[in-house]
Amino acid sequence: MKACFLAALSTLLITPLAASESVMFCERPLMAQQVAENTWMVEGLKEELSSNNCGHIGNQAFIVTPNGVILIDSGSSPAFGEALKTLIAQYTSQPVRWVLNTHHHPDHFFGNAAFGEAQHLTLASTRALMSRDREALIDNVERLTGRTLERSHIALPDVVEAGELMLESYPLTLFALGGHSGGDLVIMDDSTGVLFLGDMGFYQRAAATAHTPGLHQWQEELNELRTLDAKIAIPGHGPSAHPDTIIDQTAGYLAWLDQHLSAVASEGLGANHALAVEIPGAFSALALAEYELTRSIMQLYPRYEARLLWDTPP
Ligand SMILES: [Zn+2]
Repeated sequence: MKACFLAALSTLLITPLAASESVMFCERPLMAQQVAENTWMVEGLKEELSSNNCGHIGNQAFIVTPNGVILIDSGSSPAFGEALKTLIAQYTSQPVRWVLNTHHHPDHFFGNAAFGEAQHLTLASTRALMSRDREALIDNVERLTGRTLERSHIALPDVVEAGELMLESYPLTLFALGGHSGGDLVIMDDSTGVLFLGDMGFYQRAAATAHTPGLHQWQEELNELRTLDAKIAIPGHGPSAHPDTIIDQTAGYLAWLDQHLSAVASEGLGANHALAVEIPGAFSALALAEYELTRSIMQLYPRYEARLLWDTPP
């Protein structure tokens, strides 16, 4: 009788909360999709930050380990982080013990505050960019989503080194890259074959290039990631897919963009000529294709013009 009671009690302790109630965020159900054993992703909308999506535009992923949950990216506000925490609790009774942030863009780390009891980790390069841009990023998210953020809750993570990372007994391999934002953490989980690309990979959504140190660097780093023997990849935006599928699409788009900007600059034409282009069929169907192309030209084209004048790489 006593053993029976204890068994029932232990079941209660390890069973996650009832999954029947959907978790709502911004008047939509927040959903997780399983991508591998003990691994789920939460896909953001393929949109820009707006009041319509309340900032839920980036992907998050979580790995349930025997000693706690590893969360990869936390969304664009503490309020979103709270909803994400409730969602994760439907899949496991384990607490989130570690939050890894892939880069400094607000849709990937502003939700950290909801996981105050967890350790927050990112690369030194990423942390430096978070520190530099924090105030401007908060202003930007507030302006675009029309929501006020608890400013003091947006804290910076601790620093982690590239290489093997052991979270209790759970190993991950971290790669310190920078092609997308200047500080990009890519995470490989060898036990499941899942590659967490952060915004090094965009899938079915045009790449955001505002903070790239250069499109060539980004493409070279994507080529390095091809050599990993991953089974499935989770991009920063868009659905999961085979790593080659996501890398091919992101790298193909970046190559076209680079070639287009180089060609217009080499003719000595202005940015308005770069804007007057028909996006090739393969990329015109990507979500936000026109929007991101316009932003990329405004931000990157001056570098291509300068390269011609000063012979420096873009
Ligand atoms: Zn993003």
